[in-house]
Amino acid sequence: MGILSALTEDPWVAESGWTLAQATKAKFPEAGPFHQALKARVEQYFQDSGRPARDLPAMYAKTVALLGWFAASYAFLVFVADGVGSALLGCVSLGLAMAGIGFSVQHDANHGGYSERRAVNRLLALTLDVLGASSYVWSWKHNIFHHSHPNVAGLDADINIQPFCRVAPSQPLHRAHRFQHFYIWGLYGLLAVKWQFIDDFKDMLSGRVGLQKMPRPTGRKLAEALIGKLFFFGWALVLPAFFHPLWKVVLCHALTSFILGLTLASVFQLAHCVEEAAFPEVPEGGEAFTREWAAHQVETTVDFARGNRLVCWYLGGLNFQVVHHLFPRVCHLHYPALSGIIEKTCLEHGVRYRSQDSVRAALGSHVRWLKRMGQPLAVEAM
Ligand SMILES: [Zn+2]
Repeated sequence: MGILSALTEDPWVAESGWTLAQATKAKFPEAGPFHQALKARVEQYFQDSGRPARDLPAMYAKTVALLGWFAASYAFLVFVADGVGSALLGCVSLGLAMAGIGFSVQHDANHGGYSERRAVNRLLALTLDVLGASSYVWSWKHNIFHHSHPNVAGLDADINIQPFCRVAPSQPLHRAHRFQHFYIWGLYGLLAVKWQFIDDFKDMLSGRVGLQKMPRPTGRKLAEALIGKLFFFGWALVLPAFFHPLWKVVLCHALTSFILGLTLASVFQLAHCVEEAAFPEVPEGGEAFTREWAAHQVETTVDFARGNRLVCWYLGGLNFQVVHHLFPRVCHLHYPALSGIIEKTCLEHGVRYRSQDSVRAALGSHVRWLKRMGQPLAVEAM
């Protein structure tokens, strides 16, 4: 398998027995000179640097650091914290550590971008199950339904917050949406707990993620998903209940999950649901999109805070989502170096590349987009 294989070589779709055409209706025009140039230059970067695309020692060290942060936060919360202040600190630290594992470890591994070895990717993909969300459901929801066609309403599961919020121009507007830039943060906070307790079970039983079909897990995949859930409920709720009253355990779990959900959702939304991103619609009559796949990925995605090393470390390169969407099977530690190459190639080929200077600027753009999508004017102007 080539080091730069993109979506069509997604490691888990191939295993499911489904073809990509079965998984998604999207059709794109043939790759043109833009995508060819991108691939050639990124290949050249790997040749010149002599670094492998995956299995970077720094990534293994980062994984140990994040898992250590997670374990230390959990031990502190369950065995050390003895007051409201220390419990709050433990919940915040645990929620942020879980989000960090989600951004960096499970995300790379689920895309097959962590290691050359399938078993290593699979093992580290299961860190998501440890966090309470099924890596099986995620790989369909994220790798296929989001990555195949970001920002396309009806196909991208990540922008489907209907009927509560309207984040794409083609989604129906309700009166309450005018306040969505206030209340959406509460919904983001519920994301993790919803995955943990409702969505994964519902999706696996129905064989659907939102409006799209996925194969129901069977055999080893089903066993992994169910054992993952049991393990998660065990460490998150059962074990702490031996040491603390149940109401305290539930309260701490709710707060930790809220921080986790809010952090995850906000970061993923900052790259797509902003003023600078495009929102193409599904072409009529089974036609192909007008833009080729690579240009679609760039124009529906916006980078942010590329110069902030701390943000880059913690977000697992998700502030460089343009690189991630073009080369999801490359370890995220390469993203800062690849970003400049991609920006230059976009400029030369007339493809619109966008980046925000800071997290604050990206947040501002997200809020302005939510306000705009919540107003009737946005419908009339279409
Ligand atoms: Zn991804």
